[in-house]
Amino acid sequence: MATKVYRIAVIGGDGIGPEVTESSLKVLDRVAGKYGFLFDFRKYLAGGCAYDVYGDPFPDETLKGCRGSDAVLLGAVGGPKWDRLDPSLRPERALLGLRKGLGLYANLRPAIMFKELSDASPLKNVKETDILIVRELTGGIYFGDHGRSRSDELLSDGSPKGVVAYDTESYSEGEISRILREGFRFAMGRRKKLTVVDKANVLESSRLWRETAEKMSSEFPEVEVDYLYVDNCSMQLISRPSTFDVIVTSNMFGDILSDEAGMITGSIGMLPSASLGTPGTPGLYEPVHGSAPDIAGTGKANPMASILSAAMLLRWSLGETIAADNIENAVRKTLEGGYRTFDIADPKCDNRKIMKTDEITDIILSKL
Ligand code: NAD
Repeated sequence: MATKVYRIAVIGGDGIGPEVTESSLKVLDRVAGKYGFLFDFRKYLAGGCAYDVYGDPFPDETLKGCRGSDAVLLGAVGGPKWDRLDPSLRPERALLGLRKGLGLYANLRPAIMFKELSDASPLKNVKETDILIVRELTGGIYFGDHGRSRSDELLSDGSPKGVVAYDTESYSEGEISRILREGFRFAMGRRKKLTVVDKANVLESSRLWRETAEKMSSEFPEVEVDYLYVDNCSMQLISRPSTFDVIVTSNMFGDILSDEAGMITGSIGMLPSASLGTPGTPGLYEPVHGSAPDIAGTGKANPMASILSAAMLLRWSLGETIAADNIENAVRKTLEGGYRTFDIADPKCDNRKIMKTDEITDIILSKL
């Protein structure tokens, strides 16, 4: 039988993006050899580096390359060098272009607390935690009607209203159903617990979320569903993080809650993410962190968020779950062995085990 070859679009991007992505490529190559498949990595430019070469942060060739791939692995884009550019030319436009161009409507943000890193968590006595936040990515207030107007009306204290700015939260039943279905699907593959987060006591769009979830729950009788208002959820995440399994929510609520849940785990350098579209289209996998210009080129970048994103790529886009497990276990064993990068080093750790990017990558490779 012919060896399976997976085509992966690789976008290193800016700052530490290419450094951490290089680590992931080494790890992916190693598991491919071990499990009998091959990768065809195709590198593309996006972000500030693409602007420098093409005068465009998201060249057509990059989108075309991504569309023709099985999955996309991204490092990070952006940096102070490009901060003063017109918004249409700024590196971040590449991220929006990728989301839109690939139709990525589901953002998956796991917040896994490795017990070895419990000291790095700002919470006391936090137990092992494994939460998956499923965030709707292409609708809601970020994409709704927005603008400004001027009002001649007066406020109750008699002062003029003046300029009025507005952003509109709007969701269709179709948009809600497709992201809820992802939430239920992921819960089925995990501990079968789904928390739907909304603000149904105030917002009409949230009431539609809740009604749709209630209807859909009969299709997934094994999944235990509960509902939390977003303000309550933000408190419960702090008070009982280890009781959550899958959280599904809208674009803005997910944006905020996923950062909060991520922080519980200790370091941004450990957080992977995936963005998925309709089945059969390439998913985008990237660390949650940015291009960290303050440490770029110093060897201080923690590659584990990118490496864990590569594991998600294997699991969710390629169905290579054993290889994905292997990578996640190798990261766990590396931490168990006391190895750390600078961002997750604590006063108790052995200084001889604080590693640079390529050194910790070699340790992870040795644990595969
Ligand atoms: P950042 O995530 O790049 O850095 C925040 C802090 O975390 C910095 O102190 C950095 O050194 C540290 N850090 C981040 N990743 C790390 C890692 N892997 N290992 C060790 N330490 C790490 O956020 P920022 O400083 O706000 O943004 C820098 C640039 O990145 C900006 O241009 C921003 O627009 C861009 N950005 C891009 C993305 C993306 O490409 N998806 C996401 C966020 C920010």
